[in-house]
Amino acid sequence: MATPPFYTCQTIPTTDTPGLSRRQFLARTGSCGAHLLWMSAAGSLVTQRLFAEGSAHKIVAREPWARLEQLYDGIWAIVSTPLDAKDWTTLSNGGIIAGKDGVMVIESFAGAKGARWAAQQAHELTGRWPTDVVITHYHGDHANGVTGFVRDGEAPRIWTTSKTRELLLQDRGQNSGRGDETERTALYESTQEIDATNGNTIDLGGRKVRLEPRAGHTASDVTIEVEDPSVVFYGDLVWNHMFPNFRDTTPSLFEQSIRDAMRERETIYVPGHGSIADTADIEGLLAVLGEVEAAARKTFGTEMTANETARLLKLPDSLGEWIRFSENYYEVAISAWHQELSLEMKRERMDAAKASDPES
Ligand SMILES: [Zn+2]
Repeated sequence: MATPPFYTCQTIPTTDTPGLSRRQFLARTGSCGAHLLWMSAAGSLVTQRLFAEGSAHKIVAREPWARLEQLYDGIWAIVSTPLDAKDWTTLSNGGIIAGKDGVMVIESFAGAKGARWAAQQAHELTGRWPTDVVITHYHGDHANGVTGFVRDGEAPRIWTTSKTRELLLQDRGQNSGRGDETERTALYESTQEIDATNGNTIDLGGRKVRLEPRAGHTASDVTIEVEDPSVVFYGDLVWNHMFPNFRDTTPSLFEQSIRDAMRERETIYVPGHGSIADTADIEGLLAVLGEVEAAARKTFGTEMTANETARLLKLPDSLGEWIRFSENYYEVAISAWHQELSLEMKRERMDAAKASDPES
């Protein structure tokens, strides 16, 4: 039995998108690559397990769309649970980090209602409306809600890389019909730029936060990192027991960025989707990515298409369950690998040609 589809293109309808018919909904989601999830009755049992609560943390708020987990004093994770009640108010994970002088919210979520809820939670927990918002990358489920942070005509500082800003502005045409385009565009145009080479350290007052520019999931990703206690908000560079969306992914870079942000000491990792992760979870993700790479390399340059390769891909049971938001996610992943390998081959040929004829 199928239930309504959902997911993460820029046009995802949210509960604050009025009057969207099922037909319009399908037209929109289809237009950006059919990021649909059809949940089977069996699938929903799987998702209940996937989004099961991490036992270690105190739940300070709970809504149909997300729960708020306290990781440490002044650091909270927003763990979205879009599959529980088919509620995609927030859809992506995020967080709240507080210092004496400022409060940062990580991500602006799928719609203004989700962002406003996060801002209200921040206010309730810290007595202060968010002063800073970081958007990790341009995908709509992380970036669309930005107007929800505006209060009395004032917006917090909104941090993005310049590349993410560019992609957000390019992409806004696909986001029409939500009612807040003008305000949203203005906020994107005036984002605070994250230093693409060195990143930024933001001092919230007794709490320093690193914004680390990375790439791989998209052309520009950012991780948000705290040294002590050790916490890394990965954005969509990590998905926990959910198979990643490779739509804009450069696979080798994706894997490299995951490794670069891992720490040797005990650390809490907040993924872009799925429950809070630890080192073993990240290693599990890397193993999944390794399986995908191996399958893609095996068929690259042969008659076998990405689709055929994907149909044969089976993750070992030892890696546990990895839910896909859409049935085509394996194919998208294999295609991304085939594309990268093909570019690599072209580069090697050009280098070889240059080496054999240095005059050219
Ligand atoms: Zn994403």
